[in-house]
Amino acid sequence: MSDILFDVRHLSKVFDLGRGVGAPRDQKRLLYAVEDMNFTMKKGETLGVVGESGSGKSTMGRCLVGLEKPTQGSITYRGQDLAKIPKQQQQKLRKDMQIVFQNPISSFNPSKTVGESLREVAAFHGLSKTQSNDRIGNLLGFVHLDSEVLQARSNVLSGGQLQRLAIVRALIPNPSFILADEPVSALDVSVQAQILRLFDNLKRELGVSTLFVSHDLTVVEHLCDRVIVMYLGSIVEMAPVRKLFDHPLHPYTQLLLASRPREFPGQVVQRFEPKGEITSAIGRAHDCRFHSRCPVSVNGVCDQEIPSLLEVSPGHWVACVLSDKRRDIGKSFRLTHGIWERKGMQVGA
Ligand code: ADP
Ligand code: MG
Repeated sequence: MSDILFDVRHLSKVFDLGRGVGAPRDQKRLLYAVEDMNFTMKKGETLGVVGESGSGKSTMGRCLVGLEKPTQGSITYRGQDLAKIPKQQQQKLRKDMQIVFQNPISSFNPSKTVGESLREVAAFHGLSKTQSNDRIGNLLGFVHLDSEVLQARSNVLSGGQLQRLAIVRALIPNPSFILADEPVSALDVSVQAQILRLFDNLKRELGVSTLFVSHDLTVVEHLCDRVIVMYLGSIVEMAPVRKLFDHPLHPYTQLLLASRPREFPGQVVQRFEPKGEITSAIGRAHDCRFHSRCPVSVNGVCDQEIPSLLEVSPGHWVACVLSDKRRDIGKSFRLTHGIWERKGMQVGA
């Protein structure tokens, strides 16, 4: 049997923003939230997705679990094209894919005890009363919560307790896949570490595959097997976690890493500040979306063509002309301490 869980081909999600104020009637603004993404995810894998806010991480995840309908492309789950799954199998799929969101308070109805909410979920998935009590009891043990918590309403519980309960709720139907969309971003740093350990146990003890979405590279470093770096709707780099952190090749990944002070101690980080802010992905790309902020972009190339996502070493994929061995462009650059530099240029210039 194949070890591939998801096979994503040419996935795009375009939002129609209508025409802008005062714009002609026929001038529609199309936002390419996800544009031509290609990747696979293996069974049992924890795959991280990082990138600044607005880069399309959530939209991509929502397409995978069926909360958004792709505009183009295909998503194959366990060998089945999600767009072609018959109605009667969709319920089974809804059990198999679960979601843990950023804000746990909104996941529970404050007019019920969390025990009532969890038992409703169990009943929805067809568990009997006894099965439901057993399952919830076991899962509370897994997330290190006392069963007394079931009597409480969500408004008296802490963010950490609620996120543990959101994990319990996601695990009730015994899923194979969890979309975790910024699940620790709203929590205190000390609580974040505890919840991350739970996600690690999910993989080790239960073999659950997780797509772990985060804007924080540090969070994914210890948890994920592989990481996708997204910029304005596209994959700019994808690699096993150690390759990505030890040998980042895309200027954007290098920027994200260099902005973590402990990553390159002694480095002149200023030299790698991006110009301007993340823009929006309105209109189809005809260039490298990062070129206007990139400190090493090449005029006439990076602003003119879409870089292909190429496998530069086993499992390490990069979409940047500097890493494209078929071209000579990279020859006038060198990697110094993991950062691209123009040859012959003064540090800080
Ligand atoms: P991220 O999770 O990386 O912050 P999102 O996937 O939430 O990014 O958003 C990507 C882009 O798509 C953003 O510009 C966002 O404003 C836009 N977007 C997301 N959902 C919608 C929607 N339903 N309608 C219009 N635009 C949307
Ligand atoms: Mg998001």
